Formats: sequence, structure tokens, C-alpha cells
Amino acid sequence: MSAARAKLVVMKFGGTSVEDAAAMRRTAAIVRGRRERGLEPVVVVSAMAKVTDLLLAAAAAAGRGHKAEALSISARLRHRHIETAEKLLCGELFIEIEKSIQKRFDSLDDLLRGIAAVGELTPRTGDKVVSYGERLSSRIVAAAFAQEGLNGAHVDARKCIVTDDHYGKAVPQEAAIERALIAQVLPLVEEGKTPVMGGFIGATTEGITTTLGRGGSDFTAALVGGGLHAGAIEIWTDVNGIMTTDPRICGDALRVKTISFEEAAELAYFGAKVLHPATILPAVQKSIPVWVLNSRNAANEGTKITAMAPPCASPFKSIAVKKRLTIIDVVASRMLMSHGYLKAVFEVFDRYHCAIDMVSTSEVSISVTVDSNERLPEICAELEKMADVKMEGAKALICMVGEDIRGQSGISGRVFSAIRHINVRMISQGASEINMSFMIEESDVEEAVRSLHAEFFADPDPAIFDVEAWD
Ligand code: ASP
Ligand code: MG
Repeated sequence: MSAARAKLVVMKFGGTSVEDAAAMRRTAAIVRGRRERGLEPVVVVSAMAKVTDLLLAAAAAAGRGHKAEALSISARLRHRHIETAEKLLCGELFIEIEKSIQKRFDSLDDLLRGIAAVGELTPRTGDKVVSYGERLSSRIVAAAFAQEGLNGAHVDARKCIVTDDHYGKAVPQEAAIERALIAQVLPLVEEGKTPVMGGFIGATTEGITTTLGRGGSDFTAALVGGGLHAGAIEIWTDVNGIMTTDPRICGDALRVKTISFEEAAELAYFGAKVLHPATILPAVQKSIPVWVLNSRNAANEGTKITAMAPPCASPFKSIAVKKRLTIIDVVASRMLMSHGYLKAVFEVFDRYHCAIDMVSTSEVSISVTVDSNERLPEICAELEKMADVKMEGAKALICMVGEDIRGQSGISGRVFSAIRHINVRMISQGASEINMSFMIEESDVEEAVRSLHAEFFADPDPAIFDVEAWD
């Protein structure tokens, strides 16, 4: 499908791509490269690395009534932002930005004092506090772009990203967003400017600040790309795109040049940290390709995520590993022929906000795997009221993903014969039909991944994988 504005490219830079003055300069150079190719960048930035966590910590401290702690976090953040701006900007530009940073931290401090006085943090106020991260980073980056001759123009994301009032995880209103973007961002692009806005934040129609949930800047990029009918969306991070497996485990890992949205979604769910594909859905639905690129290695071509996977000679695209898992076996003869039992078991996990990765059941037992966490003993104690419970930690999940396993026979034979010396605990073939996952001991991960990689990526399809890395 041809995009309505083929030259328009939404470029999203994550926290590490704007973490300090040097990173912001690299970001400016990347954007310059796109402009020199005749593209029209619209830039979305995260808060500087770690800032979101620190703002949340400040808000939480204030909510407990710990005013001094909250204000000291804010003081450190104030210093870091001003120092970054000082290293980047000169003359009038710095004076102006410094004033604006000071003003914003003064109001943040007022807000934190107010929260501490009441001793209660509401989700609505929490969003207000955490929004400062992106509001500040986007202003500094826009000023840096102005200085670098990129015609940087700051846009307050809260004027464009219209959401409902689910504070902490607000739902974007796509039609209203599209109207706002066309009214406020498009004219800037048409004047040859580079609009820069913060990701993650938005506002209700009443103008109350909201956020889209952690990692929400990718979501903003997809909403902006979708709303403006961009030709492409680029997610700039600090890895070379999606790999066939974790290169720290297997030195032969290759970059995957192109992957389908569904495959990327499976991988994200099972531990590949590159991006959460649910957040790029608004782009994929409009057939806008999304690229994952490395801001520390701009020459690398990254990974292209598209709605449909091109045909590939290898059955799998990538092997993901998720470690630090625990298996919990719940055994009860009462389960036989009774209904409502699974529900009761799952409710226990739900009460402790414990997400389950994999489930397998027999007539009298349920095995589930969960991320290891400190609440597991409490969860087991509750389950023991209904069943015999056994918990075993130090497990790992291996998840193999590929559209081309659909309908192919003999694949599981190849998988399990490649790792025939390894003890496999639980197996599941995902309902999506494009993933095969199984649970092993954490200590077997390296051997398993290397054997599987050798079995399935010995002769990689050059259309899909970056085989040049091998020469
Ligand atoms: N700054 C936000 C976070 O750390 C949003 C993002 O970076 O995507 O979750
Ligand atoms: Mg992120």
C-alpha cells in the first residue's frame, strides 16, 4: 500500500539515545542524515535514560510523606538536565532553555510538596509528575536541533495525543489525535521544520495530563506515524535490531533483516526486549513499516517489521530465551471432573499480580511457569490450601518463533533431536501456531541455544538474515 506521505518519517529515540549531551548530538546527526536524503522527520523522544524511574520514585516518596527525599531526587534531576543543556547549547538558546527548565522544576517541586502534604499519591498526580521527563527531554532536543541547523520546533505532545482518563495507561483516541496532528504538526513539516515531541505523555480532552504506560514512547511514535500516514517509523534504540538469538549466548547470532509483526510480538512476549509490538499496532494496521535501528551504530540497517512476513527458507526467525523462571506444580485429585478449579488457581496468581508465562495441565495437575519474584512463597501458601504444591526455581524458557513452521511437519523432531541430551520440562506449541516453547534448566541454556542455532541457522536465507556479518 502506498503511504499518503511517503517522505515523512517518524523517528523515535529512546532514553539511551538522549541520555546525555553526546547522545543528543548523535541523535541530531542521525536526523540530519535523514533530512539530507530528502526525508521529512518528525521526532519523538523518551525521557533521558532513568529519568522516568527517578520521577516515579520521587512521586512515591512524596506519597509516603517523605518530602525531603522527593525534593532531593528532583534537585538531582534539575542539575542533570541543566548540565546537559549547558554542554549542548550556547548563547541565547541556552539562556532560554535554562529558564524553561528551572521553571518546570519549580512547578514539579511545588507538586511534590503538595503530594507530600496530603500524603497520598493519586494515579492522576502520578502521571503529572512522571510527564516532566518527556516534557523536558523534548524541549532540550528541540533546542539542540535548532542550534544544529535542523530547524527544531518543539511540540507539546499533550496538545496532540488525546487520550481517555485511565491515568497510568490511558487509551489514545485515534481520530482526535489525527486531527490534532494534522492541525499542529503537519504545518511545521511543510515549513521545513523538524517537529520534536515527547513520547509517552498525552492529555484528556479537558487538558489533564495522562501517560500511555511504561515504554509508551514507541506507542506515541506509532500513533504519530499512523495519524500522519507516514512512509515509515523508525525506533532508534541501542541494539542492532532483532537478532536470531542473544549474541551474548551464541556468537553466531545474525541480524534478522525483516520480520512480521506477529513474529515480533511473540518474541517480545518471551523476553526479547527490543520493543513491545502491541505498541506499534496503529502503524502496522495502516501497513506502515516499522524499523528498529541502533543509534550507536547508525550505518547498521536494523530490522524491518511489516504486517506480512516475506517467505523464508528457514522455519524459524529467532530463538528467544527467558531466564529466572519458576515452575509451580499444583496437584489435586479434587481437580478430576470438577469445574471452576482452574479459575480458583489462576485467581491466586491474579491477586498477587503475577503473570503466568506458560501453562500445561493433566487430569489432576496444573504446571505453570512464572517470573521468579518475592511474592511466590505467599502464592504457594495460598495454593496449598487447595492442593499439593511444588515450586522449582532456576528454570528458563526457550521460545522459537517463525511463521514458516505453520503446517510444516518434522520440525519438532528436529528441535528435540538437536537438544536430545537436555532435560525438557514443559512443552507448548503456541496458539498462534508460530512459536514452539519449552522449559529447561537455566544451567542448560547455553548448550541448548547453541545446538538449536546450529541446527536451524547453519544455512541462513540471505534475503531474511544478515549473512554478511559472517565474512
Ligand atoms: N520514559 C517512559 C518509560 O521509561 C516511556 C518510554 O521511554 O518509552 O517508560
Ligand atoms: Mg522503550
